[in-house]
Amino acid sequence: MDTAIRYRRIDAFDKVTAPSWDTIELAPLEDVRAEQERNLVTQMAYLKENSTFYQQRFAEAGVEFDDIKTIEDLQKLPYTVKTEIRESLAADQPFGLHRAADMGDIVQMQASSGTTGSPAYIALTEKDAESWQEMSARCFFANGVRPGDMVLHAFSMAKGFVGGIPAFQAVQYMGGIDVPVGADGGVDRLLRALADTRPRCIIGAPNFVIHLAEKAPEILGMEASELGVERLIVGGEPGGGIPVIRDRIEKLWGAKCCEMLGGTDLGMAYWAECDEQSGMHMVSMDHIITELLDNETGKIIPFKEGAKGEMIYTAIKREASPLVRFRSGDFIEVLGTSCGCGRTGPKIRCTGRTDDMLIVRGANVFPSAINSIVGEMAPETNSVMRIVADFEGHTTQGALKVIVERGPDRDPARDAELKKDVETRLRNALVFKADVTIVAADTFEKPGVAKVVFVLREFPDLP
Ligand SMILES: [Zn+2]
Repeated sequence: MDTAIRYRRIDAFDKVTAPSWDTIELAPLEDVRAEQERNLVTQMAYLKENSTFYQQRFAEAGVEFDDIKTIEDLQKLPYTVKTEIRESLAADQPFGLHRAADMGDIVQMQASSGTTGSPAYIALTEKDAESWQEMSARCFFANGVRPGDMVLHAFSMAKGFVGGIPAFQAVQYMGGIDVPVGADGGVDRLLRALADTRPRCIIGAPNFVIHLAEKAPEILGMEASELGVERLIVGGEPGGGIPVIRDRIEKLWGAKCCEMLGGTDLGMAYWAECDEQSGMHMVSMDHIITELLDNETGKIIPFKEGAKGEMIYTAIKREASPLVRFRSGDFIEVLGTSCGCGRTGPKIRCTGRTDDMLIVRGANVFPSAINSIVGEMAPETNSVMRIVADFEGHTTQGALKVIVERGPDRDPARDAELKKDVETRLRNALVFKADVTIVAADTFEKPGVAKVVFVLREFPDLP
């Protein structure tokens, strides 16, 4: 009996100078596809045996598990939507009717951040946990983390958030040393650990790593750029792919910043930018099949440069909490299909999440897009804004109220001019009418442990 418990992958250090964590990231797409379809067939056989949830759904759709052999065959199946997962969870707590492994085989659980009500709880078997670590290791590696690196953990470590324990496990798995303070540990503690341990990399949310850098002179008596950090790995919210925010992070830290993307239901991270910083590669195609849904036509479209749509995910190496054709609500744009790094997975940018999308007089508006425009207007603005969605649901026929902080050096007497400038920029770039209120710099709380919430449901009391 093999009783070895390993925390680190045994060959981690052989990969230090490799071009990618796994060779499949560089494989020709026809080879990747063959591997995906082999795994798809195995996954279907597993679900046929173990998932009453999908047995029922397949029966309703009149499809046999054995009929699903290719990526195109998936189109015979209905989508799995988030409300179904929520209903399944409520009907059979804690892991839902879609749990497809014995409770005795589950070694770990995570929780989604869940914008409404209870979070979704996700179960992992040992094999699932390994798959998550492998996918995340590929991301960290693409982002520039190397075996032997110290990595300051500035994502939240609490509440079951995937940026916590799973990120820690992936750093350890790939041969790094995670400095496990967490955003919840507070800025003082994080900066102190940074000064003491001098990590080469930091992982965290983009707005939070900016905040951390801004606090360094006050708490440590030195600039963040003097601390020897070489890589900032950001995710969990938009920002890392927005040039103005990336530039700010890189300037403050004197380091390179790369972005990654995941999403609890499928893993910690499976999209990641390489050194070229021109979009996030899909690095885990042998674990997840991705389809791109054009929401306007309802059709699945190819990953071609310029294609836009919602990501649909099918986990093909998943036991405890399987998902078939899961509608993620993540909207992406394909930025490219080839890259100097040699990775063959398409490169994307996440343009927003359907959960966050507002519809202003028929125009789709993502809060992150407004944030990006306001950021581009620094130093006239302080790069900080809030949307006041003081209406039912996500749709309004009126102008959208946006509160923008003026730049710290700007004269308040010229607010009327700034208001007009922001409104014009927003109309030109995003095609909607905004009603902008200008407020003083630092009116709103700086980003802390929680994600920055861009949308307020009522107009705040302003000083
Ligand atoms: Zn690349």
